Amino acid sequence: MTNGTVHIVGAGLAGLSAGVALAGQGRKVIVHELARHAGGRCRSYFESALGMTIDNGNHLLLSGNASALAFLDKIGGRHLLDEPQHAAFNFFDLASNESWVLRPNDGPVPWWIFSKNRRVPRTSALDYMRLGNLLGASACETVTERIASDTVVYRNLMEPVLLAALNCDLKEGSAQLAAAVVRETLGRGGKACRPLFAANGLGPALVDPAVTFIAQKGGEVRFDHGVRAIEWDGARATALKFADDTVPLSPDDKLILAVPAWVARTLAPELKVPTEYRSILNAHFAFPSPRSLAKITGVVNATTEWLFAFENRLSVTVSSADRFNEAEREPTARRIWAEISQIAGIDAEMPRWQIVKERRATFAATPDQNAVRPRAETRWKNVFLAGDWTATGLPATIEGAIRSGETAAKLAMAA
Ligand SMILES: Cc1cc2nc3c(=O)[nH]c(=O)nc-3n(C[C@H](O)[C@H](O)[C@H](O)COP(=O)(O)OP(=O)(O)OC[C@H]3O[C@@H](n4cnc5c(N)ncnc54)[C@H](O)[C@@H]3O)c2cc1C
Repeated sequence: MTNGTVHIVGAGLAGLSAGVALAGQGRKVIVHELARHAGGRCRSYFESALGMTIDNGNHLLLSGNASALAFLDKIGGRHLLDEPQHAAFNFFDLASNESWVLRPNDGPVPWWIFSKNRRVPRTSALDYMRLGNLLGASACETVTERIASDTVVYRNLMEPVLLAALNCDLKEGSAQLAAAVVRETLGRGGKACRPLFAANGLGPALVDPAVTFIAQKGGEVRFDHGVRAIEWDGARATALKFADDTVPLSPDDKLILAVPAWVARTLAPELKVPTEYRSILNAHFAFPSPRSLAKITGVVNATTEWLFAFENRLSVTVSSADRFNEAEREPTARRIWAEISQIAGIDAEMPRWQIVKERRATFAATPDQNAVRPRAETRWKNVFLAGDWTATGLPATIEGAIRSGETAAKLAMAA
């Protein structure tokens, strides 16, 4: 092991997780971040339309996200997660006004599928057993090539869950990526699929403590310090160029690129990276959550897919939302507010609202795009890649981003 500095470009969760892993092992770390804040797509920010701090998108973790939880334990942010004891998912069907709660039992033997009170109404144990077909998927198959899409269990469970996990239409979504999520969560029993969310924001739970951890271990996070270009010398990166300065890389220094795929491609043009993206739409309403409302509700037969009940705000997530890219915002907000009112039994004018469309929320989790995700190692001896778009075996998620940072950190340590 050498003693050079590890330069990490990007302070999203991938870069922060690499920084935490390396600084925690006594390596000198400098994280260079383009923005004036850390967190990337998981940042919290003050939203003036609502008059409150919100997250850049509602984010859900599951208790099977082992790397994310280990990261939270390490940086001391886990107590800021809302962490129920048992798995329970509330659902609401907007067409029929029917609601139900999916309650997988804790252990890995899924006896809950035999209990009418724990599964989706009008489904049978056999319907769930057939879903096992997803697990044997090959790299080129899509979700709907492996499981039937004309069943109640698909429409009222698999579609909302896997659409959120993959963020792309399941007709084109990679069955292997979907299977990886199921294997690490529902497949391990209710204990591994308890829904966790940062009730007071992703920044305070996942981001700020990571920045503090790196600083306390002698590392540095430099904000407003975006890398403009990298200088190369055959087998190595030799310098990082910023707007006002150039930082040379000594022979012992390492570089972890933890930027979005399209930025990585600009900095290192010969990299092969995913090039297709899908958007996510979030609608936020400054309205106190009714006490009777579950913290998270899956919604079917609606524009709303997941409704998050924060103390002072109701927020909706719509995945694979490219169809809304050009849509007018206010009619969309009104439609979603009407749905929330029906779900939560609210009789009130639409409050202060905001619609946030993140166009490049995630890479498109299709078999083709999954196939071009690069590994963390590159042809340059001192350069490693991290980010939810690298070959983590998972879709673009917090878990994948954190795991990718750890992988890159391990390689940088060993190089
Ligand atoms: C709306 C939305 C909802 C989501 N919901 C969920 C969810 O419920 N559950 C889940 O697990 N995941 C969810 N995700 C995905 C999750 O947010 C991402 O997988 C994760 O945040 C990606 O982290 P990252 O570090 O790979 O990338 P990013 O967060 O994109 O970080 C990259 C960083 O690099 C910086 N950067 C860019 N260019 C430069 C440069 N030239 N120099 C220096 N720095 C640079 C950026 O500013 C950024 O901070 C969601 C994403 C969105 C957008």
